[in-house]
Amino acid sequence: MLNLILFGPPGSGKGTQADNLIARYQILHISTGDLFRYEMGNDTPLGLKAKEYMSRGELVPDEVTIGMLQNKVNAHPEARGIIFDGFPRTIAQAKALDEFLDSKGTSVTALVALDVPDEELVVRLLGRGKTSGRADDNDEAVIRTRIDVYKKETTPVFDYYQDQGKSQMIPGVGTIDEIFGRLTNAIDDIYTSS
Ligand code: ADP
Repeated sequence: MLNLILFGPPGSGKGTQADNLIARYQILHISTGDLFRYEMGNDTPLGLKAKEYMSRGELVPDEVTIGMLQNKVNAHPEARGIIFDGFPRTIAQAKALDEFLDSKGTSVTALVALDVPDEELVVRLLGRGKTSGRADDNDEAVIRTRIDVYKKETTPVFDYYQDQGKSQMIPGVGTIDEIFGRLTNAIDDIYTSS
């Protein structure tokens, strides 16, 4: 299986690139942010819980997030591989993912991180907020909290997979096609050498 973690700060382009990557590699896309927004839209208990955290730009607690992710993976036994978008965002999530995949006889193939400067992220997210209807993209203070949370809680996940020889940094500024080209070059290299 090709199990990719698409990594990077909020606004780095993970969702956009994930759409292109699933078309190319024919693998399942799981975005924990999209899953939470779906639950929120349906006012489920999980959605209401997630909303408390998301509206402040904080992470939803690990036990909630990990359970939801596992359910989604278990619902797709036919998947030939998975792009994890927005997960894992903490070391606890990364360890849980490794154990979970191990129990299925598979593992994380690689983590590809999109590198984008903070000020560019803020501009992109405020721009997206004008059309996305996402409350967390309409408030600069919430955007800055999300970037801070990423630095403190999420960047250690890059190092965690680097210790396993799996992390790669990809410059995330340029056209969508340029960045897609960089990502596919990196992924194809890993794919052919694995
Ligand atoms: P972005 O990367 O632009 O912030 P996402 O859609 O990935 O957007 O995430 C939106 C929000 O959903 C996050 O700010 C967080 O509150 C919540 N969330 C998403 N994924 C996770 C996760 N793996 N762990 C905890 N919270 C998460």
